[in-house]
Amino acid sequence: MSPKQVAILGSTGSIGVNTLDVIRAHPERFKVVALTAAKQIERLAEQCIEFKPAIAVVADADGAAQLSHLLEANQITTQVLYGPQALVSAVTESGCDTVMAAIVGAAGLVPALAAAQAGKRVLLANKEALVMSGNLFMQAMKTGGGELLPIDSEHNAIFQCLPDHFTKNPSEHLGVEELWLTASGGPFRDRSLTDLASITPEQACAHPNWVMGRKISVDSATMMNKGLEVIEAFWLFGLPLEKIKVLIHPQSVVHSMVRYRDGSVLAQMGQPDMRTPIAYGLAWPERIDAGVAPLNLTQLTGLSFTEPNFSQFPCLSLAFAAAKAGGTAPAILNAANEVAVAAFLDEGLPYLTIPSVVEHCLNAMPALAADSLEMILEADILARQTAIQYIRAIKR
Ligand code: NAD
Ligand code: MG
Repeated sequence: MSPKQVAILGSTGSIGVNTLDVIRAHPERFKVVALTAAKQIERLAEQCIEFKPAIAVVADADGAAQLSHLLEANQITTQVLYGPQALVSAVTESGCDTVMAAIVGAAGLVPALAAAQAGKRVLLANKEALVMSGNLFMQAMKTGGGELLPIDSEHNAIFQCLPDHFTKNPSEHLGVEELWLTASGGPFRDRSLTDLASITPEQACAHPNWVMGRKISVDSATMMNKGLEVIEAFWLFGLPLEKIKVLIHPQSVVHSMVRYRDGSVLAQMGQPDMRTPIAYGLAWPERIDAGVAPLNLTQLTGLSFTEPNFSQFPCLSLAFAAAKAGGTAPAILNAANEVAVAAFLDEGLPYLTIPSVVEHCLNAMPALAADSLEMILEADILARQTAIQYIRAIKR
């Protein structure tokens, strides 16, 4: 068996580092051929020294010069590239057959789409890409002829609970009645909305069960993350929106479930450790050691499931509304949320303003057809401008 040739987009992030951790344990199965990062040059250099990829990509020329210098000093011959187009080269020119799409946010869309078009096995962590361009992305997967393996733990769980042939023929639904996405409820699950006015970035990023990047941690606190995941599930599994439900499950043991017509409910359980879905995607249809401790059910104090309170989590309602509106509305939702979360993390925007920014952009911009990448990127840019103007106005 020749090793799979893997490109990791966003290798210095939480998902990227976990992916390398799984790969490190299976050198006979996987060879890293491309690594990319935005700004963490030293961490990327260490990864290149260990895994010796053909290509490494960073955000800009300064970063590229710094990385080249560090690699030359260690006699590493990795080709160093920079800029958004080079992320596409990491997919199309590295000789990879498998792409881990783990860049955070809209920045990951174009290279993920390139991987879909090129017929790669796409391990999709970058949910924002699918939220923005679901129809286009699924079409690109189909024409490219590659395999799409969801890495988001909920979608990976659902994928594991569906029959093998489901994803090839989703329109038949094969007795599937509903998908139940579980949500931990984040750090503010039991707090009232008014209680959250003075929440700091540190408090919002302290997720009770998962260790993740800062943007997705804030999304988990507002539950925008679950909203994005509803849209992600809609595109991945082709079920009507009404059949996709959210359940609050604070223990994060059941990662999601599928309810069938005959009364069966299939669940996937495990530790809250992203190396499980990553290893599943890398090795599918085989199963390999992920380095994850076994789940001990006798040590659990209980498993609980409740309906989410939509008034406590306005971002969840906004995501459902955008999903229903369709077209460019999910791209607008996503862009406005990215701007608002960045302003919360870096500029002191009050926590409770995040949903206001998103709501403003959804109301200010019509949902247009999302038939081409250009239309989607145009909506993304316009929504970012609208969000920035709104934030400026409320700061005055
Ligand atoms: P992170 O912030 O830890 O890492 C993001 C990576 O993307 C880094 O390598 C960074 O250098 C790179 N990056 C950021 N901006 C970039 C840009 N403009 N251009 C090029 N590269 C850029 O994020 P993460 O937690 O690893 O999440 C990555 C993706 O996976 C997100 O879409 C997130 O929603 C999804 N996801 C993460 C988890 C998790 O447990 N961390 C779980 C499910 C889904
Ligand atoms: Mg998830």
